[in-house]
Amino acid sequence: MDCIFCQIAAGRVPTEILYQDEEVIAFRDINPQAPVHLLIIPRRHIPSLAHLSEGESSLIGHMASAANRLAKSEGVSEKGYRLTVNCGEWGGQLVPHLHMHLIGGRKLSGKLG
Ligand code: 5GP
Ligand code: ZN
Repeated sequence: MDCIFCQIAAGRVPTEILYQDEEVIAFRDINPQAPVHLLIIPRRHIPSLAHLSEGESSLIGHMASAANRLAKSEGVSEKGYRLTVNCGEWGGQLVPHLHMHLIGGRKLSGKLG
């Protein structure tokens, strides 16, 4: 198991878990791009959004709902925040385990790519 996010999900890398349930976990990004920068990941290894089958699409809703909850607990819900899923090389995905970035705590640029 050489996937870093699988290792975090398995509790093999000391990481503060901010939210967890049977399907997803959330923790802080090691290299934050804003005052609040969390990662929401499925426990199960799915390499990217492109690998998610149609029957599994409810997982994204589940991740977004965890993000919504975390945005409230991190105090960024009212001002606003950004959820990002990078997919594949050209999408800027570096860690090949599906994840959602929750970024907030400052006014973000309008630039997306
Ligand atoms: P990507 O570019 O794949 O969408 O984002 C991967 C994110 O994972 C990056 O923002 C990077 O800082 C973060 N990251 C990479 N390795 C680790 C790690 O070991 N622990 C944590 N907490 N974040 C990581
Ligand atoms: Zn993994």
